[in-house]
Amino acid sequence: MVGRINLPVVTASAKIFQVQWHKNCLRNFVRRFHLCHPALPVTLAPVEEVRFTILGSGSAGNAAYLESPGARLLIDCGLSAKRIRTALLEQNRTPERLDGILITHEHSDHVSGLRVLAAKAGIPVYANAHTADDIAAIHQCPFNFQIFETGNRFEIGDLAIESFPVPHDAVDPVGYLIHTPAGQFAHLTDLGHGTRLIADRVRAAEVLVLETNHDVDLLKNDPRRPPSLKQRIFSRHGHLSNEGAADFLERIIHDNLRHIFCAHLSRDCNDPEMVRAEITDKLAALNAPNVQVHVTHQTTPSEPLVLPVKKMTESGEKSVASPALAN
Ligand SMILES: [Zn+2]
Ligand SMILES: [Zn+2]
Repeated sequence: MVGRINLPVVTASAKIFQVQWHKNCLRNFVRRFHLCHPALPVTLAPVEEVRFTILGSGSAGNAAYLESPGARLLIDCGLSAKRIRTALLEQNRTPERLDGILITHEHSDHVSGLRVLAAKAGIPVYANAHTADDIAAIHQCPFNFQIFETGNRFEIGDLAIESFPVPHDAVDPVGYLIHTPAGQFAHLTDLGHGTRLIADRVRAAEVLVLETNHDVDLLKNDPRRPPSLKQRIFSRHGHLSNEGAADFLERIIHDNLRHIFCAHLSRDCNDPEMVRAEITDKLAALNAPNVQVHVTHQTTPSEPLVLPVKKMTESGEKSVASPALAN
C-alpha cells in the first residue's frame, strides 16, 4: 500500500509549497523541481509532530505506537508480530525503525509478540528487573533488555519517560508518563484501582490512555467466567471498570487534558458505546467538554493522533507550533 504524505518544501525565496505526494514519487518530484528551477535549492523541512496510535487494545492483546521527531516506540507488544508489522506498514512505518519497546508487565496480552518482533532484531526492550526476569523465563530467548528502576526517569531520543507502580496481579506492573515535545502522554491500563500516587503522576497529562475494562453488571452476569476469575477481575489488583475509570477521571481532571483513549475493553463484558457514554457523561458532569474521547478496539487501530510540537517562547513557556505535516 502506498501512503500519502504532506511535505512542506522550502525554497530559497522562502516560499513554502505544501506538496501532497505519493512517497515513491517524491524523488521524481524533487528531480523535476530541480530541472524546472535549477537556481532554487530544495530542502525538506523536518517533521515536527508527535504521532500516537493504539494498534490494538483489549483483553486479547495490547500495543500502542508513539513517534516523536527523535524517537519511535511501542508501548507493550501484546499483538502478534505480524499484526504489529501490518499496522505499522499501513502508516508507512516499520518495526525495524523502532528505538524501543516499553513493557508495562509480563502478562501475555502485553508481551505475546515480543519474541518474534524484538528478539531477533535486537530492538531494545525497556522493563523493570522483575518484569524482565519473568519475560526471559517465559520466552526462553535473549532480549536486548534495558532495565529501569520503577520511579526513575530515563530518556529515549527526545522522550523522557517516568514509570510508576500500578495495583495489578503481575510481578511488578507499571504505568508510564511520557514527556514528549508535544506534551505529556500517560499510559494507564491493567490496574484494579487508581491510587493517590497514580493520580499525582498522570494529572498533568494532555493525552491519557485509561483502562475501561468491563461493565460491572455485564461481568457479574457473564455465564462463561467462573466466580474465581470474576473475583480476580473485580479485585483491587484486577482491572478497572467503566465506572471505576469515570470515578478516577474525576480525581485527575484538569484544563490541559485533551484526549482520552479508553483501552483494554473486555470483548464479552463490555461495549464500546457503553464506554463512550460513561466517559462522555462524566466529562459533561465535570464541565470538560473539550476532551476528545477515543474508544479503542481489539482488531482495528485507532486513527493516528497527530500533535504539533511545542516551541519554547522567550519567556520559557511552551507554545503550540503550526503543524509542519498533517494527514
Ligand atoms: Zn495484566
Ligand atoms: Zn492486560
